[in-house]
Amino acid sequence: MSDRVYIFDTTLRDGEQSPGCSMTVPEKLRMARKLVELGVDVLEAGFPIASQGDFEAVDAVSREFPWVQVAALARSCTLDVERAAQSLRHARRPRIHTFIATSDIHLKYKLKKSREQVLEEAVAAVELARRDVDDVEFSAEDGSRTDPVFLEEISKAVVAAGARTVNIPDTVGFSTPAEYGQIIGRVVQALGDCAIVSVHCHDDMGLAVANSLAAIEAGARQVECTINGIGERAGNTSLEEVVVVLKTRPDVYPYRTGIQTEHLFSASELLSSIITFGPQPNKAIVGRNAFAHEAGIHQDGYLKEKSTYEIIDPRSVGVPEGKLVLGKHSGRHALLKRCQDLGFDLTRPELDALYQRFTAVADHRKKGLMDEEIIALIHEGQKIQTVAAD
Ligand code: MN
Repeated sequence: MSDRVYIFDTTLRDGEQSPGCSMTVPEKLRMARKLVELGVDVLEAGFPIASQGDFEAVDAVSREFPWVQVAALARSCTLDVERAAQSLRHARRPRIHTFIATSDIHLKYKLKKSREQVLEEAVAAVELARRDVDDVEFSAEDGSRTDPVFLEEISKAVVAAGARTVNIPDTVGFSTPAEYGQIIGRVVQALGDCAIVSVHCHDDMGLAVANSLAAIEAGARQVECTINGIGERAGNTSLEEVVVVLKTRPDVYPYRTGIQTEHLFSASELLSSIITFGPQPNKAIVGRNAFAHEAGIHQDGYLKEKSTYEIIDPRSVGVPEGKLVLGKHSGRHALLKRCQDLGFDLTRPELDALYQRFTAVADHRKKGLMDEEIIALIHEGQKIQTVAAD
């Protein structure tokens, strides 16, 4: 089995449909440009039947980036599939992504359909989509809560009907890594080389990345994810996290993606500037504090040898450099280093005096001191010395 994992980005679809994340067509195009630069394999640009804007976004993205695989979402019904096909008419590498719920709970309460009906509609939708495009993906919505026997049956049926990718989403973020790995492993075994098995996880219990990784180990070779982990409710698998885990721990996860990780931070920043919120400060990889060190012991170790407290080179993900936050937990070593970086060479007594003034201020702060404040404290010390000399 190949070690290549395909990254299917759904920032512009699942991400965009969550609160505070709506994007206009020009905004989707700006984001798409960055995602292409990042090297995503498939770019899901919208759900064309859902709105005119989504239809236009898929059309615009596929015209602007003809060499990229562009996906359009469609429920497993004629109108949706035809609308998706129409939105992709200018795409050179179009993918229709059709889905229907397969769990008993969704069948009974939402669709009010039998398993036989659902299977029939799924197969019909895939066959219809295949008349327009070669590349069809089928998603068994709520797959992780679907009877494994039925999941296997419908997966084989859609592949026989022409689907190349079978996605088994953990739509409600209910699964756990070991369980999800088993679910995925069973479908991988059933489909063999006939299709790529894909995963799509939600973060309702904070397990989306862990579940996606367990799925890769079980044989999944496409991961659906979003920048900053945006998406319905608690969001989707975070693209930057899953990619950086694979890159940082090849000893545990011997797989590769086509992502140019140096663009991760700028992709995160661009998305934050388009939607209404950014990642939380302590978000892995792209959060404001992801490479910030404040505790004195950590700063001292970091200054002696970065690898003592830093497992990812910030530059490898596009973050300018590791940050030492000068706050009340900082020690002399970090303060001296910052002064040197700012162009001040302090003697030991000067540093000691500065450190006293610094901690007096920092003690009352929730946040670290800015460079300008450090400089002001240095100047203050120089004034005190001048007065003393006078
Ligand atoms: Mn989803």
